[in-house]
Amino acid sequence: MADLILVNGTLWTANSSQPWAEAVAVDGERIHRVGRTAEIKKLAGQKTRVIDLDGALVLPGFIDSHTHFLEGGFSLSSIQLRDVTSREQFVKRVEEKARGLRKGDWILHGNWDHEQFSPPELPRKEWIDGVSAQNPVCVCRYDEHIALANSLALAIGGITKDTKSPQGGEIQKDPETGEPTGILRDAAMDLVMRHIPQPSVETNQEAAETALRHARELGVTSLNDMADGSSFAASLAVYQELLKEDKLTARIHLYIPIDQIDTVETLGLRAPFGNDRLVIGGLKGFADGGLGASTAYFFEPYNDDPGNTGLLAPQMFPEGIMEKRILQADRAGLQVAIHAIGDRANSIILDIFDKITAQDGKRDRRWRIEHVQHLRPVDIGRFAELGVIASVQPFHAIDDGRWAETKIGKGRCRTTYAFKSLLDSGALLAMGSDWPVAPLNPLTGICAAVARQTTDGKNPDGWFPEQKIPLEEALKGFTLNGAYAEFSEKTKGSLEAGKLADIVVLDRDLFKIAPEEIKNARAVLTIVGGKIVYDRSGKMSRRRIP
Ligand SMILES: [Zn+2]
Repeated sequence: MADLILVNGTLWTANSSQPWAEAVAVDGERIHRVGRTAEIKKLAGQKTRVIDLDGALVLPGFIDSHTHFLEGGFSLSSIQLRDVTSREQFVKRVEEKARGLRKGDWILHGNWDHEQFSPPELPRKEWIDGVSAQNPVCVCRYDEHIALANSLALAIGGITKDTKSPQGGEIQKDPETGEPTGILRDAAMDLVMRHIPQPSVETNQEAAETALRHARELGVTSLNDMADGSSFAASLAVYQELLKEDKLTARIHLYIPIDQIDTVETLGLRAPFGNDRLVIGGLKGFADGGLGASTAYFFEPYNDDPGNTGLLAPQMFPEGIMEKRILQADRAGLQVAIHAIGDRANSIILDIFDKITAQDGKRDRRWRIEHVQHLRPVDIGRFAELGVIASVQPFHAIDDGRWAETKIGKGRCRTTYAFKSLLDSGALLAMGSDWPVAPLNPLTGICAAVARQTTDGKNPDGWFPEQKIPLEEALKGFTLNGAYAEFSEKTKGSLEAGKLADIVVLDRDLFKIAPEEIKNARAVLTIVGGKIVYDRSGKMSRRRIP
């Protein structure tokens, strides 16, 4: 007899041999059977909990292929600048935050977006110095490629007018005075950030629990954590603790920073290692910066900055090191996932994959490129050819789509977030959020992939509408393909007998509403490993049929 049964639903299963069903029976932490209500009902015994779905849409639990999860948890409790549209508001938020802190406490994260100011202008330290004299401030643009530091934070970082920009980064200086403006790009951010005190284990655990609650409420049952830099060790420590306490309500696949490859090799780790809840997976590296900061690496210069083609990430230096590390990882049997945004960064990484394949032969490596934001048309087909997974975040398309044309022109935008072209070429799209850079809610991502309406409302028919993809492809991107991208498609990613019972029930049928309405849908019930971890109304799990 089953432990839990959901009946009278509309199940989209992500299983091509049985794409639709009405009911599912769960036994322990696994799916026992998927089928018609009449047939599944027969599996109900005395102790079976039976939930009547009343027609609701049921999907495999969402898998987010790209998050910075712990940081996401912190972003929920830190200063909120994402919706700020003016200098006055910006200053006021910093002032309010500083008022609640002790002297010396840092003000971090923020996620501001200067493109929302009219006219768009980068903030300066002078804006906030007067309201934050006691507190170092280092607040990031939402893409985390630009930070604004106040004078106190710059002093802590030892940054003066004489400090040279580090490789892979820029300390912005005032053209008249030569003084730093407070704006730090990419590698320059680290000059300040390395002085930020490490949060305590308790603080990290609180952030992780906040993040997990957020994930449950959104129907996210699995996620990839691209914990970069020092946050890897902190994340792994916290997840182990949560696993022990049985509090990991999302399955986590943690990627290791690729500059740690020597340590990984010494340990003898061959990914994926762990269990159904927590896995240490492959290695994550960076090839370049981001578009918003003009540090994504292109073949041709930026349209609004003619001398600039972007920057390779510090991990690309000295020359040849990335190839060496990818090869080292590959020979140790470890998957790699490399951040590449600009067309040239993507091309370079594809070249490396190509070279290693030619050298060592083809096998099931599931190399990933993270973001795959801008591609030359000639590089699109190489993903399928080389079996490279395109790990994309559709929300970035509708967000960057507001201003991408000013930065790189219409021509290059045609193959920006080219989801449809990638699909047509046979590439596999694994989808995610990049939270906290973008919202964690997979439904905003799915909506972005199928409707491509920019967040400023200026592209009602979709930004480069020829790149819209069908709903089922977007759903696969957030379920089965996500499982494939972390080598776990045999155990999760679809509603199928024998797989882990990770299930989400939505408040409306995505197949019956306009594509642009998808973002308004909500998860009402989230099940992980057969356990109900979220029930929005508190009623769903009590609703039973005799
Ligand atoms: Zn990221």
